[in-house]
Amino acid sequence: MAQARQPHIAVIGAGAFGGWTALFLRRQGARVTLVDAWGPGNSRASSGGETRVIRATYGPRAIYTKMAARALTLWKEHQTRWHRPLYHGIGVLWLVESDDQYEKAALPILREARVTFEELQGPEVARRLPQINCDRVRWAILEKEGGYLTARRACAAVLEGFLAEGGEYRQLAVQAPIQPRGGELSAIGLSDDSKLTADHFVFACGPWLGALFPDAVGDRVKPTRQEVFFFGTPPGDRRFTEEALPVWADHGTRFMYGIPGNEWRGFKVADDTRGPVIDPTTESRVPSPDALQIARDYLAYRFPGLKGAPLLESRVCQYEQSPDEHFIIDRHPDAANAWIVGGGSGHGFKHGPAVGELVARLVLSGATPDEQFRLSRFAH
Ligand SMILES: Cc1cc2nc3c(=O)[nH]c(=O)nc-3n(C[C@H](O)[C@H](O)[C@H](O)COP(=O)(O)OP(=O)(O)OC[C@H]3O[C@@H](n4cnc5c(N)ncnc54)[C@H](O)[C@@H]3O)c2cc1C
Repeated sequence: MAQARQPHIAVIGAGAFGGWTALFLRRQGARVTLVDAWGPGNSRASSGGETRVIRATYGPRAIYTKMAARALTLWKEHQTRWHRPLYHGIGVLWLVESDDQYEKAALPILREARVTFEELQGPEVARRLPQINCDRVRWAILEKEGGYLTARRACAAVLEGFLAEGGEYRQLAVQAPIQPRGGELSAIGLSDDSKLTADHFVFACGPWLGALFPDAVGDRVKPTRQEVFFFGTPPGDRRFTEEALPVWADHGTRFMYGIPGNEWRGFKVADDTRGPVIDPTTESRVPSPDALQIARDYLAYRFPGLKGAPLLESRVCQYEQSPDEHFIIDRHPDAANAWIVGGGSGHGFKHGPAVGELVARLVLSGATPDEQFRLSRFAH
C-alpha cells in the first residue's frame, strides 16, 4: 500500500511560538522548514530576553491558566529530555495592596486547574520574606510551581531539538508584505531571492506580524517599547537572589514585576505598562531615563535593601500587543493554508510549548481554533 505523502509545512519565525510549533509539527511526522531572519531568540525578537516568568495566575482568564499548566508540564518534560535547566521553579508571589479583583478572580480557576499555591496574609509574607516591604501588603498568592524560564537559551534548545528530530532550518527573511490571492498561499519570497513553496504556512513573526500582513493583521499587533533593568545586589548578600526570593508580581499603581538575581546576574525589575509603538527592526535599544527612574523608585519602595543599587544591565524589548491581549491563532482570512500565530501581548513566552502543540494539531487536523483566538473577534 502506498504511504500518504507527509505535508510540507513552512514555519516563519523561530521565537517562542514558531520554534515550538515547528518542533510539534515535525514530531507529528510533517516535513518542516523553519525560517527566521535573525535566528531563534535573537536580540530584536520578543523572545530574546535572558529570562521570562512562568505563572498560572491570570485573573478571570481561565484559558491561560489551563494553557500555562499544560505548558509547565511540557517545559519540565523537555528540560529532562534535553538535559538543560530551562525552567526554574522558584515560585511566583503575587502581592496585593489595594485592588485585588485580579487575584480574587484567579483563585477558583487556580483551584480548578489544580495549580499548587498558598494564600498568605500580609504579616506572613513579611515574616517569610523580610527583604520585601510589606507595610501595605494585605494578602498574597504564592504559586509554588511558578518561576522563570531561561528565554533565549530555551529558543536555541528548541531549535536544536527540532534539528535533531529531522527539521530543516534556514536563516533568511521572508519578504513583506504577504497578500495571498485566490484562497490559498502557494509560495513566499525569501531574502536570497528564492521562493519557498509549501502545503501549509505558519507565520509566527511576533511584533513583525502587522508589517507582514498589513490588511489581515495591521495594527492588531502593535510592537510596544518595554524596558527591563537589572540591578546589582550588595556584595556577598544572598537575600535578593533566587535561593531566597521567588519571582514577584505587584499589582500596585503600576503592574511591576521582577525576577531575583539568578545565574550570578542582576536583580530584574520591569514595568508591564505598555510603552510607545516602535519598529522592531530599526529601534535603537537605549533605555530611557524616565523608565529607569520608575524602576529605581519602585525598587527603593518594595526592596528597601536595594535602594540606590547600581544598574548593571538593561534591555529594551517590545510586546506584540493585541487589542484585547488575547493571542491570535487563526487562518489568514484569504488563505486557508496560511496560519497567523502571535499577539503574545507581554505574556506569550511561557505558553510556547502549549501553543506549539495546539497549532500543530490545528494545522494537521484542519480544526477551527477557539473563538477567543480568532481574527474575526476584532470585527465585532
Ligand atoms: C520585556 C518583556 C518581558 C516579557 N515577560 C514575559 C514573561 O515574563 N512571561 C511570558 O510568558 N512572556 C513575557 N513576555 C512576552 C513574550 O516574550 C512574547 O509574547 C513571546 O516571546 C513572543 O514570541 P513570538 O514567537 O510570538 O515572537 P518573537 O520572539 O519576536 O519571534 C518572532 C520571530 O520571527 C522572526 N521574523 C520576523 N519577521 C520575519 C520575516 N519577515 N522573515 C523571517 N523571520 C522573521 C524574528 O526574527 C523572530 O525571531 C515578555 C516580553 C517582553 C518584551
